[in-house]
Amino acid sequence: MRQIALYGKGGIGKSTTTSNLSAALSKMDNRVMQIGCDPKSDSTVPLTQGKRIPTVLELIREQELRREANAVTAQLTLEDLVYNGFNGVLCCEAGGPEPGVGCAGRGVITAIEMLKNQKAFEIYQPDVVLYDVLGDVVCGGFAMPIRQGLAEEVYVITSGEMMAIYACNNIFKGIYKFAKGGNIRVGGILLNSRGTPMEEELIRDFAKITGTEVIYVIPRDKIVQKCEMAGQTVIEGAPGSKQYEAYMEMAGKIVDNTSRTI
Ligand code: ADP
Ligand code: MG
Repeated sequence: MRQIALYGKGGIGKSTTTSNLSAALSKMDNRVMQIGCDPKSDSTVPLTQGKRIPTVLELIREQELRREANAVTAQLTLEDLVYNGFNGVLCCEAGGPEPGVGCAGRGVITAIEMLKNQKAFEIYQPDVVLYDVLGDVVCGGFAMPIRQGLAEEVYVITSGEMMAIYACNNIFKGIYKFAKGGNIRVGGILLNSRGTPMEEELIRDFAKITGTEVIYVIPRDKIVQKCEMAGQTVIEGAPGSKQYEAYMEMAGKIVDNTSRTI
């Protein structure tokens, strides 16, 4: 089982890239599981016909409310937590706190504990597990997937924008901390092109300085939004397009990538 985490700044294209990667890997005959670890809870939307699935935190909250009302409640099962998405991709959303209350990383901690307790990985036996994680703050909650026993390989998504590079560097620092005691390594950088000045040169320079590698440069294409509006990944919605070929190629590069950096 290959356990991969994709980190990056909010809005950089984590969910889009992760969903297309899941879909592409499923096309290559892999059993894939995607776990959304962003309070925004929209990671798997393009894999489930544009509809949100209930998050782990929402399901727990509902159950608590029913219990408070003295209703008889059945235990949450794996079928409640995990949805069957495009081409059999298993989808799960951790969820987030109610705005203004609680810790943003709490959903990630709870969801991962639930999945482990329910033996999700033993039962589904995925070939690849993808964690889509918000990397603006690498707090305990959001660091969960890169702690021992979970993801071993991290790809950071960035553009040439300073804030995205700043977040990327912060994630590298977090990994540096955990790598000493565990197996977590940086697999590399995915450059999600924004078209900023000297974008690729900047990121190649940043990779050199941090001793990492640029694994793939994802082109920017309006077809991504068109498919998004149809509730689909590019893999599902625009097979044969240039962007489809790009995501398939990216998936191949990630599968073949052996680079591991602390
Ligand atoms: P995040 O998960 O990091 O918050 P999203 O994946 O939701 O970010 O992406 C934010 C927006 O950027 C989405 O509306 C998506 O359609 C768009 N986007 C992401 N990658 C690309 C791309 N390569 N080309 C065009 N649009 C993109
Ligand atoms: Mg997202």
